[in-house]
Amino acid sequence: MPVPLPIILFFVGHWVLSVFFQTFFLHRYGAHRMFEMSPRWERFFHLCTFLTQGSSYLNPRGYAILHRMHHAYSDTEKDPHSPVVAKDPFTMMTRTWAIYLGIRTGTFDVEPRFLGGYPEWPALDRIAGRVSTVLLFGAAYALFYFHFATAWWQLLLLPIHFLMGPTHGAIVNWFGHWLGYRNFDEKDNSKNTLLFDFVCFGELFQNNHHRHGSRPNFAARWFEIDPGYVVITIFAKLGIIEMRDAKSLQRAPLPAPAAE
Ligand SMILES: [Zn+2]
Ligand SMILES: [Zn+2]
Repeated sequence: MPVPLPIILFFVGHWVLSVFFQTFFLHRYGAHRMFEMSPRWERFFHLCTFLTQGSSYLNPRGYAILHRMHHAYSDTEKDPHSPVVAKDPFTMMTRTWAIYLGIRTGTFDVEPRFLGGYPEWPALDRIAGRVSTVLLFGAAYALFYFHFATAWWQLLLLPIHFLMGPTHGAIVNWFGHWLGYRNFDEKDNSKNTLLFDFVCFGELFQNNHHRHGSRPNFAARWFEIDPGYVVITIFAKLGIIEMRDAKSLQRAPLPAPAAE
């Protein structure tokens, strides 16, 4: 029995929008500040991030701190998510979630250098962090499936909707530091997993990104395509965002081959 079109559209739409706002707003803007935007656009994208990530939304402050720790301690004991340290993706993401909760509740000791420069909207993030909000999103996904599903096994996709953010996190952080090729001889285990990363909007160019942490284009070689960067260039041309460095709209020269 084929999967009904509304379920395919909902699944693909939720996947794409959730990972897009993760890479565009939480990662490249919130954690790295690769570009600037007006306070109104910032609120708009903050709201979009909350609505599209729904039950698994991470607030920009918590995300930025986690992510800055990842860059500073990549693939060491202090990395919040590393396949080199964790024995499987589930253990890795459980540890990441525990640190995130600690940051959110103030029980995790954050190094001062990881603080500041991220979008803050305390009222929205308070609402987003409530258990009732998480349950409401979960119920909405379930109702959609109960209405449109034509076979019970289609409901097996529901847990992915409930945990959309951690699903992307597990893919990017596990595969991106385990499987693929390297352009740069970084100290960590970062890899470029796909040549055309349409699965995670460019996030799977981890090796390129760890070498050039503030460069908005995660692709580095002529054959690599970073869809997240394509959208960023369109937003910049429309005046929605402003690149911090005009040169960042140009492609970097070919990197030297990794000396491995
Ligand atoms: Zn990484
Ligand atoms: Zn990063």
